[in-house]
Amino acid sequence: MKKFVRCTDCAAPLCYLHVFDHVPAFCPSIRYEEEISDVSRKLAGGELAEVARVSSEGAGANYCRKTRVEETIDFARRLGLKRLGIAFCIGLRREAAVFANILESHGFDVLAVCCKLGGVPKEDFGVKNEEKINPGTYEGACNPAAQAKVLEREGSQLNVLLGLCVGHDSIFIANTRVLTTVLATKDRVTGHCPLQPIYLADSYYGRLMTVGVR
Ligand code: SF4
Repeated sequence: MKKFVRCTDCAAPLCYLHVFDHVPAFCPSIRYEEEISDVSRKLAGGELAEVARVSSEGAGANYCRKTRVEETIDFARRLGLKRLGIAFCIGLRREAAVFANILESHGFDVLAVCCKLGGVPKEDFGVKNEEKINPGTYEGACNPAAQAKVLEREGSQLNVLLGLCVGHDSIFIANTRVLTTVLATKDRVTGHCPLQPIYLADSYYGRLMTVGVR
């Protein structure tokens, strides 16, 4: 049976050097050579060509020197964008306010939209009372599709996600035509450092590895 593409199992990940001498059978560079050429050609000649150029250029210029906040500012600048839209989780509203001030101090017009906009009850999205965080109380639903819509209507040229929940971020991304990046992802347990359990997977977070399942 053809093995799934899984670059994490590659013993010689030398694609970054364009060396494909000892790649595994599932190597996507070989398996999808034609499609990759086609997609790359289209990217280089399409409307995202400038984004492709600028993000690689920024990686080179800022490598291990600038934080992600600084890289986000640099990315927007290199693209010549003026109006940035933050889509934030209400639980990170203080962080969002600081971030908005930082962006503003760098000369950007800053929009910011909270995840609970509209005040839509969770029931409207089919959530049952017993499935709420606190059953029996009013709980407003996160509304990432509406966040995306408002930022688009307000003329955001670059959306920056800050702390949206797993799944809500998926809905946001699926509902926007505006260029979108992520400053931070939501992880209530680790203080929004989702890689912590990965770093500690062979010790304190050993429970994450279910025996027999990879
Ligand atoms: S693309 Fe090929 S060479 Fe690169 S990591 Fe994946 S399997 Fe390895």
